[in-house]
Amino acid sequence: MGEGVLVEPAAARRSIPVPSGFAHRDGVLHCDDLSLDRLAREVGTPSYVYSATAIRAQYALLDAALAGLPHRIHYSVKANSNLAILVLLRELGAGVDIVSGGELHRALAAGFGGGDIVFSGVGKTSAELADAIRAGVKLINVESEHELELVERAAAAARAMAPIALRVNPEVTVDTPHPYTRTGERGMKFGIPYDRALAVGQRTMALPHLRLVGLDMHIGSQVAQLEPYRLGIARLLERLAELRAAGATALRYLDIGGGLAVTYDREPAADARAFGAAVREAVAGTELEVIVEPGRFLVGNAGVLLTRVLDRKHSGGKEYVITDAGMNDLLRPSHYHAFHRIEAVTPNGRRTVADIVGPVCESGDFLALDREVDDVVTGDLLVVHSAGAYGFVMASNYNSRPRAAEVLVDGGRFAVVRERETYDDLVRHERARPEWRLV
Ligand SMILES: *Cc1c(COP(=O)(O)O)cnc(C)c1O
Repeated sequence: MGEGVLVEPAAARRSIPVPSGFAHRDGVLHCDDLSLDRLAREVGTPSYVYSATAIRAQYALLDAALAGLPHRIHYSVKANSNLAILVLLRELGAGVDIVSGGELHRALAAGFGGGDIVFSGVGKTSAELADAIRAGVKLINVESEHELELVERAAAAARAMAPIALRVNPEVTVDTPHPYTRTGERGMKFGIPYDRALAVGQRTMALPHLRLVGLDMHIGSQVAQLEPYRLGIARLLERLAELRAAGATALRYLDIGGGLAVTYDREPAADARAFGAAVREAVAGTELEVIVEPGRFLVGNAGVLLTRVLDRKHSGGKEYVITDAGMNDLLRPSHYHAFHRIEAVTPNGRRTVADIVGPVCESGDFLALDREVDDVVTGDLLVVHSAGAYGFVMASNYNSRPRAAEVLVDGGRFAVVRERETYDDLVRHERARPEWRLV
């Protein structure tokens, strides 16, 4: 398995790219110029399929929206951490936002330098901090007073100065579709409480191996409104002014986090141009470098989960479509009750209303409930849209199911950028019979 050109020359010469990446052509759903029917035959199912074209388009949109403002887009690796996605974004000019030592390892493997990396996340370990300092990261976004002391110790041990941004909880109310995706309200586990920020900043300045260079917030995920960003930035800038007055002269970064929404169903996506204008206005005259940490916005709608129908069932007056992708492949419907658009690769024109469920032994294993969908039969292909973010990265081996393949498509070409796991992979790290066992 690997690379392949699966497209007729005429289609390859098509001049207008499809920015969303996915569209029906001659009755068959394509990713860029590639037929998903042919892709499924080559690579098998379930598979995640990503459009490089769509990722480039989203990156360009956001970057253009922030033009004229000193800024850097630090892609949030946790949304989709495949190395091929990371390399694509690095080549577009992105930095990264990481939340673990594992993500640091990935970022370095994808060719990012320390200066391209912002280290966020609640609950960083001393070992992770030491690795980040050794890598020379651009910013460590510190979430608590205790963490500040850990960074000081790690930096002292490395005889280094650690660049610190304080993640301040701006305590703004955000309307996201699910409470699990809100992070910037009062009393949450994330960030330093707003009324502690000045004191923690002063403590930062007092520690010899720390340099206070920025303030940071991340207000939540799937945020379409601009008001929480405007308010949050205003609140951060108030603290920034107080800290400067208290002697913090090295402050130069304002990290305003990620969270920009995409369309899953019919809800509005974040308006990148309006976002850019709002940020520009909010930071006008400060000469700060603005850092944004989008994940979902860059990759969410650039990926689908391609799955084959295993069975159709009628039970208790209900219709079921059983697919070879389940909650272990795409957790969002079960975990967040998230809506994902689902359609046939080759629609036959008939429609039905059904629950679309996976093969996992859990009633919570569904991709959609009571959904009007193409009236597919066993063997047909479906795609689950908007699966590019928080899709594969949340997959598990539950029910001993090998994780899906990941495929990157660019124009008419594709590459398997993560092979489908094998049964041997499932048991690779296990020891069946420890020698010391008593009987
Ligand atoms: C998850 C996360 C992001 C990205 O969120 P999206 O909603 O995918 O844009 C950015 N920054 C931090 C600190 C995060 O935890």
